[in-house]
Amino acid sequence: MQVPAYYADTYEEQAHTQVAAIGERDGAPWVAVEHCLFHPQGGGQPADRGWVDGHEITPVRDHDSGLVVAVAAGEAALPVFSVGQPVEARIDLPLRTTHAALHTAGHLIEAAGREQGWVLAANNHFPGQTRIEFTAPTPDARLDTPDGREEATEALRAAVAKAIAQDLPVTWDNDTEGRRIVHLADLHSAPCGGTHVRSLGDLADVVLPTLKVKKGRIRVSYSAAHRERS
Ligand SMILES: [Zn+2]
Repeated sequence: MQVPAYYADTYEEQAHTQVAAIGERDGAPWVAVEHCLFHPQGGGQPADRGWVDGHEITPVRDHDSGLVVAVAAGEAALPVFSVGQPVEARIDLPLRTTHAALHTAGHLIEAAGREQGWVLAANNHFPGQTRIEFTAPTPDARLDTPDGREEATEALRAAVAKAIAQDLPVTWDNDTEGRRIVHLADLHSAPCGGTHVRSLGDLADVVLPTLKVKKGRIRVSYSAAHRERS
């Protein structure tokens, strides 16, 4: 039995747990732990960096078992663990909070774009590539000129700054189909398996360069960081 602990607490850095399962992928051993701190790549968010008993691992979703399994991050293979063996799991917390800030800022920009009458078309929360793309179901004349695009971006920036100043809480629950739904207060709700900050006041340095329009897509690039944690 494996619990996705990263759903409950983005900030849990290490845990004593035990081995839930072992196996092989492409000839290399993997280990799955019960209290799983490790977020695998998915939903536009990159994988965590982590360690099991000091061995650096990359978490991967194993579609055969449905488990998040840890594979060796470097050249050296993992040792062979045994099911039930106690182990120490740890994540790279600064990297985790960076991912969570970028990802949560993406939800916030999605909400700001919807207020503009746009519809989400794509998202990417990878550091250095972060952007949200929209389409405009009804023609938006602002998007046709540089001044108009700047005006539309300024509206997004204002909505983002307002929600951060309000420090809106980020919460989640399960819908009737068992899907995990993430909420930014009443501003935004979406099915999501990513990691998030606790409230929007955790976001810092959210910067939106002037949006671009390419092949009918409104492309809003952004950067964001987690505020300094005391
Ligand atoms: Zn999310």
